[in-house]
Amino acid sequence: PLVLGIETSCDETGIGIVRGRTLLANVIASSMDEHARYGGVVPEIAARAHLEALQPTLSAALAEADVSLDDLDAIAVTSGPGLAGALMVGVGAAKALALGAGKPLYAVNHLVGHVGADVLRDDGSEIELPTIALLVSGGHTSLLHVRDLVDDVELLGETIDDAAGEAFDKVARLLGLPYPGGPQIDRVAADGDPAAIRFPRGLTLPKDLEKHRYDFSFSGLKTAVARWVEKTEAAGSPVPTADVAASFREAVVDVLLTKALAACADRGVPRLLLGGGVVANARVREVAAARCAEAGIELRIPPLSLCTDNGAMIAVLGAELVARGRRPSPLSFGADSTLPVTSAQAL
Ligand code: ATP
Ligand code: MG
Ligand code: FE
Repeated sequence: PLVLGIETSCDETGIGIVRGRTLLANVIASSMDEHARYGGVVPEIAARAHLEALQPTLSAALAEADVSLDDLDAIAVTSGPGLAGALMVGVGAAKALALGAGKPLYAVNHLVGHVGADVLRDDGSEIELPTIALLVSGGHTSLLHVRDLVDDVELLGETIDDAAGEAFDKVARLLGLPYPGGPQIDRVAADGDPAAIRFPRGLTLPKDLEKHRYDFSFSGLKTAVARWVEKTEAAGSPVPTADVAASFREAVVDVLLTKALAACADRGVPRLLLGGGVVANARVREVAAARCAEAGIELRIPPLSLCTDNGAMIAVLGAELVARGRRPSPLSFGADSTLPVTSAQAL
């Protein structure tokens, strides 16, 4: 089926078009620059930016795929999880389009979309299930056990405070680096010693593992970095920014991969899929590759344009629902900022 996907859950306005599992268009407009001076995504600004970007992004995607609205078999839209106001803009636009063009509309889950994105890579390889999936972005840090994309996604754990990308953004800020912090920390850390400072690994002590084996916590790490920097400054010493960045990055990456590989081992699943903007991190990729190779686990990392938020992953999830003969969502659905990962389709 020919499906158009609309994604507006955070700061990317994404419109993607797929035919089955073939990618025809993936156009993204980001309001990231507008959030830079606030050090993080400002929901109201994101929502307004979506409103302005939707029409041109849609036109660009239709042109790129060389199709018209009439040609579509269905439209899919992210209905959650995400920022309520941002989601509402996409959901409203999708309903208008679906009604206007007389097309069935599917309300789908953003996080499940991240998992589905993997089938769109152009090396032709298909994702094998079951897989463990680690989704790491500015808004999410989730560990999933995926047995079936639509009907059987289990949430193993998630962050209990800051998301991994959020931690990168906050630590970059306290080191005086601009937003978004991930790429900045990556750049600065390249010249640093990851073993220079031993920062805490959240929720990895035996007592934490009992209740939070697959959960993450990064706010303590952020505070530890802040304290360390304050103490160093108070002592009148220069702050070794490269070492701090490298040591902080190492702590995040270590916890992410330790928990993901523990899930693979516990569940007897020899596959790990990564998704989300933090996958751009050079050290995440390095450590994931090394540890997966050592453990005999197949590592799948979609191209970055499919890892960050995009409409194509929403379209492909919609196409999957159409292919399975699922009913469209009734137009009464709304944005659901806390939609659980167990609902691939929101009803
Ligand atoms: P959502 O959480 O809804 O997916 P988002 O917009 O926060 O939305 P993405 O756009 O996928 O998520 O990713 C943005 C985040 O990824 C930011 O927090 C950014 O700092 C982080 N990031 C980007 N590049 C890197 C990098 N090289 N290293 C670490 N983090 C990075
Ligand atoms: Mg984003
Ligand atoms: Fe996302």
